[in-house]
Amino acid sequence: MTEFTKTLCPYCGVGCGLEVSPPAESGKATNRDSQGNPIWRVRGDKSHPSSQGMVCVKGATIAESLDKNRLRYPMVRDSLDQEFRRITWDEAFNLICSRIQSIKPSEICMYGSGQFQTEDYYVAQKLMKGCLGTNNFDANSRLCMSSAVAGYIQSFGADGPPCCYDDLEQTDCAFLIGTNAAECHPIAFNRFEKYHKKNRKVKLIVVDPRRTPTAEAADLHLAIRPGTDIDLLNGIAHLLMRWNYIDTVFIDDCTANFPAYAEVIRHYGPDVVARQCGISIEDLEKAARYWGESQRVLSLWSMGVNQSSEGTAKVRTIINLHLMTGQIGKPGAGPFSLTGQPNAMGGREAGGLAHLLPGYRMLKNAEHRAEVESFWGLKPGQISTLPGLTAWDMITSLETGNVGLLWIAATNPAVSMPDLERTKKALMRSPFTIYQDAYYPTETAAYAHLLLPAAQWGEKTGVMTNSERVVTLCQAFRQPLGEAKADWDIFATVGRKLGFVDEFAFANSAEVYSEFAKLTRNRPCDMGGISHQELQTGAIQWPYPEEIKEQVSINFDTGIAGFDAEETEPEKSSFREKRTSKRLYTDFRFHTPDGRARFGAYYSRGLAEPPEPDYPFVLTNGRLYGHWHTQTRTGRIEKIQKMHPNPFIEIHPRDAASLGVVEGQIVEVRSRRGEARFPAKITKAISPGTVFVPMHWGALWADNAEANALTHPQACPDSLQPELKACAVQLVPIVVDLTVKKSQLQPTQC
Ligand code: SF4
Repeated sequence: MTEFTKTLCPYCGVGCGLEVSPPAESGKATNRDSQGNPIWRVRGDKSHPSSQGMVCVKGATIAESLDKNRLRYPMVRDSLDQEFRRITWDEAFNLICSRIQSIKPSEICMYGSGQFQTEDYYVAQKLMKGCLGTNNFDANSRLCMSSAVAGYIQSFGADGPPCCYDDLEQTDCAFLIGTNAAECHPIAFNRFEKYHKKNRKVKLIVVDPRRTPTAEAADLHLAIRPGTDIDLLNGIAHLLMRWNYIDTVFIDDCTANFPAYAEVIRHYGPDVVARQCGISIEDLEKAARYWGESQRVLSLWSMGVNQSSEGTAKVRTIINLHLMTGQIGKPGAGPFSLTGQPNAMGGREAGGLAHLLPGYRMLKNAEHRAEVESFWGLKPGQISTLPGLTAWDMITSLETGNVGLLWIAATNPAVSMPDLERTKKALMRSPFTIYQDAYYPTETAAYAHLLLPAAQWGEKTGVMTNSERVVTLCQAFRQPLGEAKADWDIFATVGRKLGFVDEFAFANSAEVYSEFAKLTRNRPCDMGGISHQELQTGAIQWPYPEEIKEQVSINFDTGIAGFDAEETEPEKSSFREKRTSKRLYTDFRFHTPDGRARFGAYYSRGLAEPPEPDYPFVLTNGRLYGHWHTQTRTGRIEKIQKMHPNPFIEIHPRDAASLGVVEGQIVEVRSRRGEARFPAKITKAISPGTVFVPMHWGALWADNAEANALTHPQACPDSLQPELKACAVQLVPIVVDLTVKKSQLQPTQC
């Protein structure tokens, strides 16, 4: 019988369960990838609570990315114009340690990734923030969902999406804003869409300047002008208030700061809002009625909201609507941010951003620092009080010569950062860059002095948390290729070689996780009852404190059913999940000092770089169904290459006519920072005045088609997340062939 190993899809934050088995099955031919490697077999895990056996094209084809273009051993070069030469791990570790010992802690920077497993994140925090005394650890999650983190913390007193995927099948109204979930979070969207089709009274509102596949499924599509989200949300609030759809008991008993919010929304009458957003008053009123008349409203968002210079304000303005209508803490309702990466949530839990510490602690909180220092056995004051450098801060610090060592792991900033020309010039100035990744080449490898081969997700055992706080054990199912090592193991070895022998005396990742889980005890993300062993029998949703685990084991014996009285949904969850609420805030008590959620009162500020006569269009960008994270994996999968063979730019027919652009013609897009070229796709799917390009085409995959050559780094003042989603551009039709570098679709294997 075939042996399947249970794991998790390493792509998006939906977190679908997978079962993987070896390529060869007796009597059957073995499938091989284009480089002749046997392909492992993958199927959805029907027992996984989040995905229930479903997978999208990315999950289904993930095995094709296991062997192709892997980095297999450490390599080094003295300067960027030299070839890499192979070295041993010992030589690599010695090089890293001598470099670290020769510079100040404040000059050490690490830029990590939501692709890390939680153990990788945790050991990196202990090394950087604990032992080395620098908070300069940030992750690509800064570019993805740090506004959601800031919004939850400011509104609820703690991070953590309060909802679960079952809410997708229990809501009366789903309000999707700034998310193309059908392409970016397909299995979560599938769950909703199946339910939506069966229950025609259920409403789907989609807010997006583009008619995406998600918007195609909507009962109401609001194609607002980019940057008018807060106008719209305040306008809906205005009508809910005017029509008395508000929950005054909830507001009085469970919230604070409503009067300041009410004063703001007073100014957002329907005529003003409709004009500002570029929608009809009827559609605005329809949205407010759908919301007000629904017993259960679920809002979902992702990078379209978060990647904004007012990202935190947008998140809080979404949350405001839930607070004013009491739409939280019950089935089918709540504000639910969808995460883009497989373990962005685990990163948040482990303190994997420059301003965080493990266990949903804040670096600026002296008590939190002291708790972590004591737990790690460090002297008081060892954790620096200086805020760490965020992703973009690292770029500007490279420019000013304040970085002595840049350690990039499991991410590809030479594609994903804003203002790419500036980013690349800054990376060129780094005196010493370590690039730790499973793949080679990537665009960022070109800026590295030292390459460290990281084990693939299937080559190391570790834990990931998905958007609904479900924690899954990803079991290793094969040996690391070549000399690749797990990220946590690389960090721990460096720690030991620097003299922190006891601090990093982990024999395996289970021990790492066990230590991390203890540090979450009595915190909002309490995972004290979770361990690798506990996860062997299935995924677990947090909070899951030690006490619950004990009750579970007692009740497993006695067969006593759950204690979560407010859970009224149909019985389909496993017994173990029922022991703890699937939702946060079911008692309507929040993590603020007085237990009340906070309204945030915000006027709309609009785009950081609005269109003007020289740059009259707004460029927005996004993911295509088969793409993910700068194509480091998906670009090497034949089926996906065929689905998305070339980049393109979507232009409304009216704009195309005024520019004299015809279908397929190359259009040069210029912003104040750079330029790129794309073949035109003329479509009414995009609003007039706005153009759209896919964001995953780096220099390795197409000539001069990088979306981030155009974007700017202006960021939300609270979350410090850059406004990657919109910038002002001009369009110049030209007649040149855009030729995808076919030769580079098969990069040389290391
Ligand atoms: Fe993987 Fe996301 Fe697709 Fe699920 S929806 S299979 S997690 S890419």
